[in-house]
Amino acid sequence: MDCLFCKIISGEIPSTKVYEDELVYAFRDINPQAPTHILVIPKAHVASANEITEENSAVVARIFEVIPKIAAAEGLSGGFRVVSNAGADACQSVHHLHFHILGGKQLSDQMA
Ligand code: 5GP
Ligand code: ZN
Repeated sequence: MDCLFCKIISGEIPSTKVYEDELVYAFRDINPQAPTHILVIPKAHVASANEITEENSAVVARIFEVIPKIAAAEGLSGGFRVVSNAGADACQSVHHLHFHILGGKQLSDQMA
């Protein structure tokens, strides 16, 4: 499958890892939109938040268990935002489920 984030997980494309376990990989966004901008992804390919099912949702729980650990490690004591773009209207550009962690500054009160 020609998927950029699957290639990042396999190491074919380099990335700056911030966390990894048997289900989840997290790395720094190549084009950060905040001082901290991290992407958290399942190792198993899921196309978007619109493809989460009873069969694959355990990894989503794991991702949300990992997010506070990453936030603490990044010093995001003032808070952070978690975003997942799904589909064209949301401008999803990589079709492998990912959750953006954005923080390290006062974020906009506009989400869209
Ligand atoms: P989306 O627009 O799909 O929600 O987010 C995709 C994100 O992946 C973007 O923020 C973009 O900067 C990031 N991205 C795209 N290609 C690469 C890459 O090769 N390496 C890393 N680390 N991030 C990438
Ligand atoms: Zn993939």
